[in-house]
Amino acid sequence: MRINCEGGEAHVVHQTLSLRRRLHKKLRGYGAGVSRYVGNQPFFVGVAGTLVAVSMAGLTLLTLSSGRADALDHARETSGNLVAIISTELERNVEIYDLSLQAMADGASNPASWKLPADVQRAVLFDRATTAAYLGGAYVIDREGRVVASQNSDVNTAVSLADRDYFLVHQRSPAVGLYFSHPFHSRLRDGKLSIGLTRRIDEIDGSFDGVALLAIRIEYFQHLLDRIDTGRLGSVFIVMDDGTLLARKPFSPRDIGSSIAKSPTFQIMAAHNAGTYVANSAVDGVRRMYTYARVPRTPLIAVVAPSVDEVLAPWRHRSRITAALTLTFGAVFVVISWLLSLALRDKLRAQAALVRLAATDPLTGLGNRRVLDTRLDEEWRRARRSGQPLSALFIDIDHFKQFNDAHGHASGDEALVAVAECISAAVRRWVDVVARYGGEEFAVILPDTSAEGALKVAEKIRRKVQGQDVIHSGGESATVTVSVGCATCVPAGGANALDLLAAADRQLYVAKAAGRNRVSSDTLAERPMPQDSPS
Ligand code: GH3
Ligand code: MG
Ligand code: MG
Repeated sequence: MRINCEGGEAHVVHQTLSLRRRLHKKLRGYGAGVSRYVGNQPFFVGVAGTLVAVSMAGLTLLTLSSGRADALDHARETSGNLVAIISTELERNVEIYDLSLQAMADGASNPASWKLPADVQRAVLFDRATTAAYLGGAYVIDREGRVVASQNSDVNTAVSLADRDYFLVHQRSPAVGLYFSHPFHSRLRDGKLSIGLTRRIDEIDGSFDGVALLAIRIEYFQHLLDRIDTGRLGSVFIVMDDGTLLARKPFSPRDIGSSIAKSPTFQIMAAHNAGTYVANSAVDGVRRMYTYARVPRTPLIAVVAPSVDEVLAPWRHRSRITAALTLTFGAVFVVISWLLSLALRDKLRAQAALVRLAATDPLTGLGNRRVLDTRLDEEWRRARRSGQPLSALFIDIDHFKQFNDAHGHASGDEALVAVAECISAAVRRWVDVVARYGGEEFAVILPDTSAEGALKVAEKIRRKVQGQDVIHSGGESATVTVSVGCATCVPAGGANALDLLAAADRQLYVAKAAGRNRVSSDTLAERPMPQDSPS
């Protein structure tokens, strides 16, 4: 091998780098465990931290969503109770009114009633229920639609009620029973908005003889609703089953008597006896939770509809705080996890770098003496278990002192790097170990390699070093050769790994003594150690 003593620096640097790359391969046995640790463990910490934070966020989300369902359930329950209260109140009063009506109809159909003096007649026809609050008036109407008896003494016979819906309904059919009229402006009581509860009065032969009427002021319904608190945006109303609105809170006079039959919200309640649903109001567009129930034995539907926004407002407030806290703590937790991960990764990288440094010869990038000792020991024990041969090469640069003297120490270093490169290039299996033993001496461990195989590798190294390209610079060049000692054995009890190295060293001196730039092999060495070949 000839080496340029000046100006070959770039080439040598390149060689050193590629040599280091190969060295990393060779040190895989040491580095692999560490790099696995570096590669996986910190990542795991970050991912685990993130997963924990995401799980916590998921749990919070679940809790919040069940809190939302609870809030809606609670509102549904409260609305249901209110609807039940309204419904019971209406049912009870209608029952009382109906009893009065029945008494009126029975009395009116009895001819004897009409022969009584006016005040006695009133006492017979109208019982005390007809004086109840919100009762606009109680009347008996004849078959022509004229008022013939009134709970009050004044009977306005000039007014005809023959066009009223309740009159026409009873006139047409005897089987209507108790009838709820649509709201109307009273002709008898200064146009007051009322609804009529009516029953038909029959002749003895069953023909139509008039109508018993209880006029109920619409305020009755409004008063019932006024006591119910459904929040600022909530609504509560009583509607007839044909969609006619009787009362509503918030109150708007023009709504009363109007029809909501076409509204999609009404169509749902018209189709069922009771239930709850969420919809946007056709009246004011507010999203509400409608809880409704039909009032038994009446055509009325009571509806309580709090605003969904108001129902959910406390839950939303709680959720915002909880979500903000969860996100903040979660983010902090994730950041801390990843900071820990990164710190751990840096620490492990630094450890790995230290391990690498401790195992590396800084000049050549080869494994150092420590690597050689450790690996030799490992391979020795492995070979002893497997019964396979183990070979060692001892390589020494010839007349290196002279080389240094002639070309300078720096050139000597470059030559060392070049020789290391040649050795690494010749030893290709990843299980093989190449190390700088010290000074200008190198050692190679070849597991599962016979003496013949070791000899081939040794010869390859020798030729590579000798045949190294000559680099010219200023016309100056140098030649380097190596001598190699080989030893092979099948490890057995009683010997140790150093014996193998010593045998290779002895063969090195055989090669030196024989004239250098040659290989000497302990060809008898595949017998169990300790047994040295003849020099
Ligand atoms: P032989 O052929 O018998 O091995 O002769 P030699 O001169 O190579 O052997 P010797 O042991 O007498 O000298 C070894 C020399 O190697 C001594 C020293 O100058 C040189 N040497 C050892 N380590 C280094 C190194 O790291 N860099 C340089 N440049 N030279 C070194
Ligand atoms: Mg030497
Ligand atoms: Mg030497």
